[in-house]
Amino acid sequence: MNAQPYTHCASVYWVFTQLCNDQCDHCYNLSGPQGARISTEECLQIVQNLPEKMDRLILSGGEPLADKAKLYAILDAVKQRYGNATQVMLQTNGDLLNEAILDELLAKGVSRFDIASIDRYHKKKGERIEILRNLFLSRGLSDDNTKPLVEKETYLHTDAPSFGFWGATEDMWLGGNWARGRAMEKNIWKKDPEHNFCKILSGAIGFLGGVDEVPQEISIQLWKINPCCPGTLYPMGDARIEKVSDVLLRVSENPVFQALNQGEPWKMGEHMGISYEEAKAKTQELENICLYCDHFFGLHMQPDNEKFIALPLYHY
Ligand code: SF4
Ligand code: SF4
Repeated sequence: MNAQPYTHCASVYWVFTQLCNDQCDHCYNLSGPQGARISTEECLQIVQNLPEKMDRLILSGGEPLADKAKLYAILDAVKQRYGNATQVMLQTNGDLLNEAILDELLAKGVSRFDIASIDRYHKKKGERIEILRNLFLSRGLSDDNTKPLVEKETYLHTDAPSFGFWGATEDMWLGGNWARGRAMEKNIWKKDPEHNFCKILSGAIGFLGGVDEVPQEISIQLWKINPCCPGTLYPMGDARIEKVSDVLLRVSENPVFQALNQGEPWKMGEHMGISYEEAKAKTQELENICLYCDHFFGLHMQPDNEKFIALPLYHY
């Protein structure tokens, strides 16, 4: 067996800024004009700590183009480190995109543009869709696959630069809204204890790989390495100071993260004697799987020098 199987990661989703020109009610990471940021130096350290091999890197926010100088510095560093071996995708609300910026992004190696703002929450709600479509087509980008690239067989779109349009939907991303950030503040998070968001892409399923249904994908929120986009109560590690592949190797030995890799948060505590039924009952009370996950992490996991330690059995 390969001693370090995580030097290759299929997909890394990185929110490198929470600065945004919009301030949507459903935003799970509190992005907006005052959104949190890390420095360009920290971003460049993170690029050096990404896995040696990545099939794709999704740069997101916040609004990446609201923090453009940082985005360009990241793109240059990614190109220098990975050449053309990694597909670089940009997830943007599209509000700030124009001809000159599109040309710069293409020159810097972005080959997929996902306009992820076509929903009722965003201010512009897709009103620029025709302008953007014509802009992409004028530069020869393909519109063969305008839906999110989530299927294991098609998660890359490497034939030619391409673009897509989509937004929050009830059954997919933010379906009814994650129990995080501004969606919590506005009380518009999904209250459905049976909905297992963890088991679809952007949840934790498959973050360590080896799951048939989805490509392996991890998420980095600013510097916090997470198994999923909503993010666990404590991150798995700090991408500014640790290699992502080392962090994944470390948590891969932990039964809590092994259950999350199966998309089964209700099984996280079985090795400690916390039954599936107990976990389901607590989720009924909390009304959301990610809130159960927070509850569990709060009781049984603790960061120790940025590492996780599963505490001894705790009855509740
Ligand atoms: S959902 Fe997107 S566009 Fe809206 S505030 Fe958050 S990052 Fe900005
Ligand atoms: S249950 Fe936990 S690991 Fe799964 S998506 Fe929610 S926060 Fe992430």
